[in-house]
Amino acid sequence: MAVVLVVNSGSSSFKYQLIEIDGEEVLASGLVERIGEERGRAEHVTAGGTTETTAEIRDHTAGFGVMLEAFAAHGPSLEEHPPTAVGHRVVHGGARFFEATVITPLVEINIDELAVLAPLHNPGALQGIRAARAAFESIPHVAVFDTAFHQSMPPEAYTYALDRETADKHRIRRYGFHGTSHKFVSEAAAAHLERPLTGLKQIVFHLGNGASVTAIDGGRSVETSMGFTPLEGLVMGTRTGDLDPAILLHLQRRAQLSTDEIDDLLNKKSGLVGLAGANDMRDLTSRAEAGDDRAQLAIDVYTHRLRAYAGAYLAQLGGADVVSFTAGIGENVAHIRASALRGLEFAGVRVDPDRNSSVRRGAITRISTDDSRVAVLVVPTDEEVEIARQTLAVASARVP
Ligand code: ADP
Repeated sequence: MAVVLVVNSGSSSFKYQLIEIDGEEVLASGLVERIGEERGRAEHVTAGGTTETTAEIRDHTAGFGVMLEAFAAHGPSLEEHPPTAVGHRVVHGGARFFEATVITPLVEINIDELAVLAPLHNPGALQGIRAARAAFESIPHVAVFDTAFHQSMPPEAYTYALDRETADKHRIRRYGFHGTSHKFVSEAAAAHLERPLTGLKQIVFHLGNGASVTAIDGGRSVETSMGFTPLEGLVMGTRTGDLDPAILLHLQRRAQLSTDEIDDLLNKKSGLVGLAGANDMRDLTSRAEAGDDRAQLAIDVYTHRLRAYAGAYLAQLGGADVVSFTAGIGENVAHIRASALRGLEFAGVRVDPDRNSSVRRGAITRISTDDSRVAVLVVPTDEEVEIARQTLAVASARVP
């Protein structure tokens, strides 16, 4: 029985899952947060229930101590279920990491160096990696990058039409994110349809708080909506997605906004929140149904962008075999799925309204009509299981 500990670290928190790979069963999960604050908090969830502790958690190393105590006190026992490896989610792998990689001191240096490109994410991941390596010294640790899946994009898809010298000097290109989810979903869709991944043209919409869409040809990402950072592309919970970059210059020159203010505006105060004051699609839907114009406009802007990308990616792929929806909004909101694909009947996409409105939670569901040339699916994503799978594959391939 192979067990993998999956860790997702931020600068002041980390989440973990202990996953038994064969049955893809989560044996335990948890969260350690407010690291470095006076009152840290930890939550440990097992089949037996949830336990919570509050105490000062000085740093990530202390955080892993708290996690190990929770395993010892509430199970499952790590002696009985010893992890074979630890898998770490790392947001940015730059152009250097194109697959999951066993962490060595050199890999740590590279992740640290890539913090230039992901200042909000890579430093926290690295703190988690260092603390976890100390807590689990004798087993391999593997970094699984959000960007890696998109390293297969061709140059014409990842290159911005920016002065070459400037772009090269600052490593400005499209990297793409959410790769772990796009890979998991596209493989799950192929398996569900009992078709070989290599023969399928797929479009995957990952619509959570962050949102991105990827065109996948034969299992390889060929185009994705997030770019140099996760800000580009679709309208998101709090992010603008695509925007005329001259707007930033205008805000600097005319509104005298500082760089940090603009960053905050584009990443935290825009998207659905900026348009309608809320990013929960349940809220927005009920408000729109009650006649709230702002909520309705936010939904319309959101779905208009989805359709634009659906059309573009159908063109880039020369038609698709499968379109999948995943993550919070993609898995749960039927009217968004319907609007995203409205008008695409000419491309062979036909959504069945009854199937679309009776999707079973947690299961892969086909929502297209029987005569739809394109299979439209709702596929629950599982990034932790994907990280665990890749971790085990890389760790077991390692020469001891
Ligand atoms: P992330 O992992 O990016 O934080 P999720 O994939 O959990 O996000 O998606 C979060 C979003 O999904 C929420 O903002 C909410 O709009 C939406 N969502 C989740 N569940 C539902 C639901 N049952 N009905 C409508 N919207 C939902």
